[in-house]
Amino acid sequence: MIYGEKTLDRPIRIGMVGGGRGGQIGYIHRIASARDFNFQLVAGAFDVNPERGKDFGLNLHVKEDRLYKDYKEMFEKEKTREDGIEAVIIATPNFLHYEIAKAALENNLHVVCEKPMTFTVAEAEDLKQLSEKHKKIVCTTFGYSGYQMIEQARQMVKNGDLGPIRIINMVYAHGYHNVAVEKHNASTKWRVDPKMAGPSYVLGDVGIHAIYLSRIICPDLKIKKLMCSRQSFVKSRAPLEDNAMTIQEYNNGAIGYLWSSCVNSGSMYGLKIRVVGEKASLEWNEEHPYALSYEVQGQPKQTMIKGADYLYPSAKEDDRGATDVVEGLFESWSNLYARFAQAMYAIDHGKEYNKWYPDVNDGLEAVRWIENCVKSADNGATWVDYK
Ligand code: NAD
Repeated sequence: MIYGEKTLDRPIRIGMVGGGRGGQIGYIHRIASARDFNFQLVAGAFDVNPERGKDFGLNLHVKEDRLYKDYKEMFEKEKTREDGIEAVIIATPNFLHYEIAKAALENNLHVVCEKPMTFTVAEAEDLKQLSEKHKKIVCTTFGYSGYQMIEQARQMVKNGDLGPIRIINMVYAHGYHNVAVEKHNASTKWRVDPKMAGPSYVLGDVGIHAIYLSRIICPDLKIKKLMCSRQSFVKSRAPLEDNAMTIQEYNNGAIGYLWSSCVNSGSMYGLKIRVVGEKASLEWNEEHPYALSYEVQGQPKQTMIKGADYLYPSAKEDDRGATDVVEGLFESWSNLYARFAQAMYAIDHGKEYNKWYPDVNDGLEAVRWIENCVKSADNGATWVDYK
């Protein structure tokens, strides 16, 4: 149970790049990082427009002399201060992630980077090397993974409650971009431009969230080969896809299916995962994140609820209130940010941190998955050996 008492000597000083006024994801980063007194936002280059970014920063109570025109100036000036930033959040469009994360690591800062971490596997491997060299961690915000019922699912698979895993059925398919909303929406416009989004749209925008959940719930399954078909139903989005279907085979003979889409008209919440074992199945749905279905063949379906006594102990560690208190995405992100803070603190103090969190390897593996999907799709939806 989390009561909000401090877990570090003092909050880690953090700066932010992107996530400015009108940006989609900046607010949840700021709120989740500030929860439990783990981080203090003290500097920023919040916007592609520096004036707007400074005005925004003042409204966040960031001191004027720590509002910068861009990340380069922020890293340069902050490192000369005794109370300079120790970590940075990167919440910009995709094409900036690699260069900002690289510069941050070279300036000995921990990084919390939005997904997809980079455009290419080679860039992601470079960040991993830099992270090892500078002993600074890179966290990636697969924000749905901090829910307690994801941990419960992981423990159930680990303890054999489902039997050997046979099938993982995943969906992240929303309907918000069923027409060319990018004509009047800045946050969607860059997502359909390969120069700013990278080699994919929905695979990297939504699909990798489901892939990360499958990695956390079934860590022993490794993809051996995959096949992907991708389409642009809104033609102007080509070569980037607004819909894709991936089939992947795993090392133990299991099979995975993932539908990634932003043109699933009428769907408001798109993320679901079903893990099917020889004896039983689990299903988790973003729409009811506090619940996990457990279906044993031949028995009535059970719905497990966060906070309940029957859960594995590690699935109860992040509860924030009584069982009947509803929690949501902000709590899931806060749970991850608490782990980010503890992992940063541990490495800075020569200690071990053993709890899982989405790290540089997870960022790298997500980029690898995108690269393999694109290779298969652009080769006529053929099977490719996973590399
Ligand atoms: P957005 O377009 O809504 O906001 C981007 C922000 O970055 C804006 O404030 C913009 O001014 C700022 N920006 C752009 N260039 C900049 C620069 N050079 N320097 C400083 N700031 C700059 O985008 P978004 O939807 O918030 O997405 C941002 C990132 O977050 C993307 O990588 C996206 O994939 C990711 N994202 C992740 C999740 C998640 O669940 N983890 C959800 C949404 C978005």
